[in-house]
Amino acid sequence: MVSQASVVTLLSLLLLLSPLFLLLPEASTASDPLSWDENGYILYCPCMGRFGNQADHLLGSLAFAKMLNRTLAVPPWVVYRHHTPPYTNAHVPFSEYFQLERLQDFHRVVSMESFMEQLAPQHWKPGQRVAYCFEAAAQRSADRSSCPMKDGNPFGPFWDHFGVEFDRSELFSGITFSSYYKAQWMERYPASEHPVLALPGAPAQFPVLSEHRHLQRFVVWADRFAEEAEGQIQSLLLRPYLGIHLRVGVDWRNACSMVKEGTAGPHLMASPQCVGDRHHSARPLTMEMCLPSLAEIKRAVGTWAHAIGAKSVYVASDSEPYTEKIKEAVGQKVRVIHRPSQLPQTDLYILAQADHFIGNCVSSFTAFVKRDRDVHRRPSSFFGMDHPPSPRDEL
Ligand code: GDP
Repeated sequence: MVSQASVVTLLSLLLLLSPLFLLLPEASTASDPLSWDENGYILYCPCMGRFGNQADHLLGSLAFAKMLNRTLAVPPWVVYRHHTPPYTNAHVPFSEYFQLERLQDFHRVVSMESFMEQLAPQHWKPGQRVAYCFEAAAQRSADRSSCPMKDGNPFGPFWDHFGVEFDRSELFSGITFSSYYKAQWMERYPASEHPVLALPGAPAQFPVLSEHRHLQRFVVWADRFAEEAEGQIQSLLLRPYLGIHLRVGVDWRNACSMVKEGTAGPHLMASPQCVGDRHHSARPLTMEMCLPSLAEIKRAVGTWAHAIGAKSVYVASDSEPYTEKIKEAVGQKVRVIHRPSQLPQTDLYILAQADHFIGNCVSSFTAFVKRDRDVHRRPSSFFGMDHPPSPRDEL
């Protein structure tokens, strides 16, 4: 006989444990061994540029993987530590900042780390590792017929991080990663004979194509990361707040000299986000859009701080934050905040949550913030351009 007291104890124990029961299916899914996808995989090195460039490439790569119906091995973020010990690149898992599961809402993905740990030992063994690249790329290698998968930084360190050596190369030409070549890709590289397409760079264009920008909605901040960044917003800023991205460092000055010299053409790096995607109808790209003068920074910040009744301004910058000058533009009552050694992703998060955002037209770092804000229908503008086209204008 079970006593009433023991039933009560059992029930209260169950109630106490119920949150754990609710978590169990998710926890067991997360630790389930991965099963092999017969449709094949795509692996690539995010070997061009820093975070903003890599994020653009990720969106295009997701679209490419979906087009070929292959699982995408989502690579870690490559972080360059040229000026900080130990000076070698860090490879930060995607899930450090974002939810891998939310990418699954668009297409099948696996982290590169899980692919190497769980699938490679059985399905992509040393001896079977084929590199795929453009014939033109192979021309750069010593024997002119091998893909230069590990030549130089960040290529070598990336594949070394996963302990990968390549055994042979498959070269292609006459195709690109565009959807126009879908049939050729499927025909030339069926998954039955080519289960793993490992590429030296992203199978995508830079900047991201307009038709892939919407994929940003599947790039969702990780809960733990978002909580920490929210904590900073709560403690540092009063709403409404204006977020601004200053891209004004030395490397940027050099890039923008092309605008001054008139050699940039209708598009420069991420500029399609503000001048429009089509070459023939692109608005002129001005120097104030690429490298805003102090006068333009003060004008734009003053205008938008006034328009939204800002109580604070958050300044993210690659170098000089012009904090004192910005205070002059917005008045003493408005709090102006800059964190000098802020993690780039924390800056991105805080900018993305602002009541209004002013970014740099040519920067892919800005572009990440702009896309994230577009997903949540938050307003953005650019230095040198108060009223950019709406994201839907060109569709
Ligand atoms: P782009 O060069 O502006 O197109 O963007 P990328 O993200 O590819 O490269 C710029 C890099 O400079 C970023 O990834 C950051 O490491 C750094 N950076 C630029 N602007 C900022 C900023 O406002 N805050 C922080 N923390 N880092 C920045």
